[in-house]
Amino acid sequence: FVEIRHAQKSYGTLEVLRDVNLTVNRGEIVAIIGPSGSGKSTLLRAINDLDPLSAGEVLLEGVQVNKTLPPRAYEAHINEMRQHIGMVFQHFNLFPHLTVRQNVTMAPKLLKRLGEAEANRLAEEQLAHVGMLERIDYYPSQLSGGQKQRVAIARALAMKPKLMLFDEATSALDPELVEEVNQVMKRLAEEHMTMIIVTHEMDFAASVCDRVIFMDGGVVVEEGPPSVVFRTPTQERTRNFLRKYL
Ligand code: ATP
Ligand code: MG
Repeated sequence: FVEIRHAQKSYGTLEVLRDVNLTVNRGEIVAIIGPSGSGKSTLLRAINDLDPLSAGEVLLEGVQVNKTLPPRAYEAHINEMRQHIGMVFQHFNLFPHLTVRQNVTMAPKLLKRLGEAEANRLAEEQLAHVGMLERIDYYPSQLSGGQKQRVAIARALAMKPKLMLFDEATSALDPELVEEVNQVMKRLAEEHMTMIIVTHEMDFAASVCDRVIFMDGGVVVEEGPPSVVFRTPTQERTRNFLRKYL
């Protein structure tokens, strides 16, 4: 469903990704864990070509996302691909001058050319899904961090993506707000949304994800089901990393 082949990324002489290979099946939920600077965000952002790879390929349902095309053709291609890939970052990237409703309806109206009524219906449906319907006419500044993050998820879901990417979606939240966002992600997991989740929350990864990928120094050091990677890691580097979370 998602295939990353021989992904490499360098910033000058700094090699951030070194031949990363990863296949994610439809409906699979994959956690990416690893120390700070190991390349997790870079890999995630390479999937929708926000951070283009230096070499290698990303495919979604067999279609190459990071195609080399003339500028106009690339623009059309990447806009199309990104409609299928929802992304939620650590820092709430809602538009502050727009209401919750406007935040959620913007992309469907602009990119899918939905009319006002249909876009509103879709926004209400997705906001209800994350428990934020009552706040539809609020501005982001009037919401808690957890609420903002739930709106950000609803906004991504309004595009009916095939794949959701989460980059530490809960790590900027106060501890008491983490659970409400985790609940929304758990629900998506139960609905078999394909998800790649960068996280520092090992309990969450263990309870929700089908597979855990441990990255260090720009390579995948170890991967497997959470029950195996967390309980009986085979690599010294994985053991050292996990020790800090016990
Ligand atoms: P964290 O857990 O702290 O979020 P990470 O695993 O997500 O870390 P990345 O953000 O992917 O790590 O960064 C990997 C490496 O790439 C780091 O050493 C970082 O300094 C470097 N890096 C990231 N973006 C750039 C950039 N635009 N220019 C130069 N170096 C960069
Ligand atoms: Mg990161």
